Amino acid sequence: MTQEQEIRVRYAPSPTGEPHVGNIRTALFNWLFARHAGGKFILRIEDTDQMREAAGATEAIIESLRWLGLQWDEGPEVGGPYGPYIQSQRLPLYQEAAQHLIDVGNAYTCYCTPEELEAMRKAQQQRREPPRYDRRCRDPQYRERLAKEGRTGVVRFKTPLEGEPIVVHDLVREDVSFDPATLDDFVLLKSDGFPTYHLANVVDDHFMGISHVMRAEEWLPSTPRHLLLYHALGYEPPKFAHLPMILGPDRSKLSKRHGATATLDYRDLGFLPEAMVNFLALLGWSLDDKTDIISREELVRHFSLERVSKSPAIFNMEKLTWMNGVYIRQMPGEELAARLAEVLEEHVAKKGIAVEPLPTAEALLLIVPLVQERVHLLAAESQNPKTPGVWDLCGLFLVGLPEYGDPPFKNVKLPGEEKARALEEAIAVLEGLEDFSHAALEGVLRPLVERLGLRTREAFMLIRVAVTGTEVSPPLFETMAVLGKERVLRRLRYAAGLVEN
Ligand code: GLU
Repeated sequence: MTQEQEIRVRYAPSPTGEPHVGNIRTALFNWLFARHAGGKFILRIEDTDQMREAAGATEAIIESLRWLGLQWDEGPEVGGPYGPYIQSQRLPLYQEAAQHLIDVGNAYTCYCTPEELEAMRKAQQQRREPPRYDRRCRDPQYRERLAKEGRTGVVRFKTPLEGEPIVVHDLVREDVSFDPATLDDFVLLKSDGFPTYHLANVVDDHFMGISHVMRAEEWLPSTPRHLLLYHALGYEPPKFAHLPMILGPDRSKLSKRHGATATLDYRDLGFLPEAMVNFLALLGWSLDDKTDIISREELVRHFSLERVSKSPAIFNMEKLTWMNGVYIRQMPGEELAARLAEVLEEHVAKKGIAVEPLPTAEALLLIVPLVQERVHLLAAESQNPKTPGVWDLCGLFLVGLPEYGDPPFKNVKLPGEEKARALEEAIAVLEGLEDFSHAALEGVLRPLVERLGLRTREAFMLIRVAVTGTEVSPPLFETMAVLGKERVLRRLRYAAGLVEN
């Protein structure tokens, strides 16, 4: 197989901050494409804009990819035959390419100062012309005069002044044409010797043997420039696929307003990597028009650019939360118990909450069947009552006494003395109960309610609140069985003291 035929794709983030979920979707699509084709997935750090570089951003990129299980075949930390994979370590390559373009007459040094460029821009604005470099340094005499002043320059590409439209054959968007007259003489190499995105991206995609460039749609307007560069440098261009934009539910560009946007924030909010991968894969790709839950293996098996959509994808946090719940329900009990234990151990330590038993995976294994249906997020607390956090669901099994509302039995429609009597009777029956299993509890409490002549709903609501502090808890008898006799009685006695006449 020749190198051109080999599938080699790359994720090429700029380390300007924590990777946004939209950006990591690009990584996922590249990864899926590579895995589907048995090709290579390459990570390349595009750190040529030193001004915008953020401390810790490369580490956050790496951590985000690892969290989602998107292992790269070549790149930082793993190496590879076309390294280094960090652009700031490849400067001579870009400088050589720029020099080559100067030598063949496709580029020139521009000595205009930032002040001159700014004045040029203002004058263009006044004349209602689009702002762009007016190419004055294309004139050799002019630029030599400036060079003699001892100025340092930038290298600009000589964009054709006219000619046939430049057509990007995009695998998602089909043919998109650009009028070359709308492109200016863009900068290739900055005065500090660093390349611009355009030059570095093209040089690296060429030398790294990239077969397909898959990136967000916002980069489409850069592609005609890249095609000009490929041509001028005598490189064969890769194939392009521009991925649809991701919007919030209000159809504006996805931003912080729509919830968390940094990938690792989702991890911290309690989302599972598997759910996140599934969700992100459907932001612009689909298997058919109905399938929502697709495993990583199936995604790899079915991923294709033919099913990448042209229209924007909507990021729906509710759908993601629902999906996370689906993945949590599919988890084996032991695994969920271990995950809950991690979250709860951290929470009780942070908040200094006294618990008994300790939230070990072993203790939680008993609780899992009671909460698995209702866990949506593997985070201790949640702001949304519809998707309670792990502590909200499991805390009642771990504390000595639950927190009671004020008043505690607000919605139990029984007179005060009835409540007190019912609780006392329940205590008496349970004190005598040896077997504290679900069936045994049901076997004594149902007849008790009947004997007392109470409505079942009210009576069990009373016991539920007394035992758990809340009106919405997992099934009552199971909950009592897990709590055990001693703790149930302690709670009932305490709650009986809270009843107001
Ligand atoms: N460095 C660019 C980014 O941050 C890469 C765009 C591309 O894939 O060409 O997204």
